[in-house]
Amino acid sequence: MTVLLPSGETVPVLGMGTWMMADDPTGRDDEIDALRTGLDLGLTLIDTAEMYGSGRSETLVGEAIGNRRDEVFLVSKVLPSNASTRGTVSACEASLRRLGTDRLDLYLLHWRGTVPLARTLDGFAALVDAGKIRHWGVSNLDLDDMRELTALPGFCQTNQILYNLTRRGPEHDLLPWHAAAGIPIMAYSPVEQGRLLDSPALAAVASRHDATPAQIALAWVLRLPHVTAIPKAGTPDHVRENARARDLTLSPEDLADLDHAFPPPTGPSPLAML
Ligand code: NAP
Repeated sequence: MTVLLPSGETVPVLGMGTWMMADDPTGRDDEIDALRTGLDLGLTLIDTAEMYGSGRSETLVGEAIGNRRDEVFLVSKVLPSNASTRGTVSACEASLRRLGTDRLDLYLLHWRGTVPLARTLDGFAALVDAGKIRHWGVSNLDLDDMRELTALPGFCQTNQILYNLTRRGPEHDLLPWHAAAGIPIMAYSPVEQGRLLDSPALAAVASRHDATPAQIALAWVLRLPHVTAIPKAGTPDHVRENARARDLTLSPEDLADLDHAFPPPTGPSPLAML
């Protein structure tokens, strides 16, 4: 199961996040195992950022990938405070060193700061020309920002945003805009950092599928055709569990029950971020 990017290539619908990986040294072996298990299961999109653990997450990802770099669609992000034209180039070069690779598949602006978008895009263009990134995109950009961005030269490949059953605001206007523009979104915190998983409504739907709440929460995000999701799982067992979400199809009854428990938006709301 894949999603088509504007570039014409496809990426797996389900990838892996890495925020807070490498924060606790005692979890390191499990985290590396988790990422390698995910690669074995086809979760070959890995999301990281220079911000995560001040680069420690990128170093861990580099170690986990090792000589499997060519299997991975590798995503990292530049902090807004580094996102001047030259700063973007330097930040990317530092990420590449930590990741132990010569290129990123996708480089995102982590959120919008004070640097004009055009300056960051100039940095992305220089990195593409140098072969250091293959594609670029953004994260946490709301509708007005996306309209401004897409009026500039170049092709944004994705907008990584907070989207899950408890964060349905983007359904009102941002998701329809993305679908019409042909720019997929990448849903982060798809299980609301674990807070969603105690939901009785999710448990009830899960029991109908012989599944777990996490699998249902992920299958719900992935019900839309232009959405990828990047849950973070720190153990191989959680990765295996999450991978099965790709095989689940929610019924109209499931979706109605989830709508009842987690109502869709009735009007516009600003894009939330974590
Ligand atoms: P998340 O993926 O919604 O949740 C991660 C939490 O859920 C972890 O505590 C994990 O525990 C737990 N979990 C995962 N699978 C589970 C399962 N099957 N059963 C039970 N618990 C499970 O939250 P997130 O890490 O915030 O978001 C995912 C990724 O999105 C991040 O890692 C990061 O790469 C990206 N992100 C981007 C932004 C942005 O601003 N662009 C913001 C936030 C996140 P274990 O670790 O114990 O498995």
